[in-house]
Amino acid sequence: MQYLCAIMLNLILFGPPGSGKGTQAIRLKEKFNLIHISTGDLLRSEISNKSTLGLEAQKYMNAGKLVPDEVVIGMISSKLDENKANQPNGYIFDGFPRTVPQAEALDNLLLQKAEPIKIVLSLNVSEPELLSRLLERGKSSGRADDVNEDIIKNRIKVYHNETTPVANHYEQLNKLKNIQGEGSIDSIFEALATALSQA
Ligand code: AMP
Repeated sequence: MQYLCAIMLNLILFGPPGSGKGTQAIRLKEKFNLIHISTGDLLRSEISNKSTLGLEAQKYMNAGKLVPDEVVIGMISSKLDENKANQPNGYIFDGFPRTVPQAEALDNLLLQKAEPIKIVLSLNVSEPELLSRLLERGKSSGRADDVNEDIIKNRIKVYHNETTPVANHYEQLNKLKNIQGEGSIDSIFEALATALSQA
């Protein structure tokens, strides 16, 4: 069943690399009729198109580092403009924001172009589990940043240093909801969908 919303249901699916954001975003998008915006997917599409932006971003991504804020903020701004005329029920932001300046920029963009973030659903997964999921994914994902253990560890470190403050930003706004990100994909999805229905 799809939910139709009178007001926009804008949410951030938050969590470390390998926490299941991409998998769950696709399901949430279907159930709640939302537009899914993944900065990782957008960047990978720039890379496959061999655009200047993509070739520049690739250097950071292959090293497990964050792409500069202004690049990803610009991409999000364009996506919001592209979709504005469709009057979406809402957006799922996946892999964005990853720094506090990105979170502040998103809050401002939504003020101008849509409606504020309603809820931030944060998937909690232990570090050994993240490592093993990403190495497993690396066997088939074709992603250079999934195959090397040192790069994966660097991505997790970057998450701790630069991205966890984003959770504090939304906690102060009373928008953060922690979700257990280990268990079956279905049970995690149920927990996310319940939290979203109650938001
Ligand atoms: P993901 O697909 O979300 O795991 O992202 C893969 C890589 O893309 C990350 O390790 C970063 O190098 C880059 N990336 C994705 N989203 C962002 C973002 N919001 N800010 C900076 N870099 C990003």
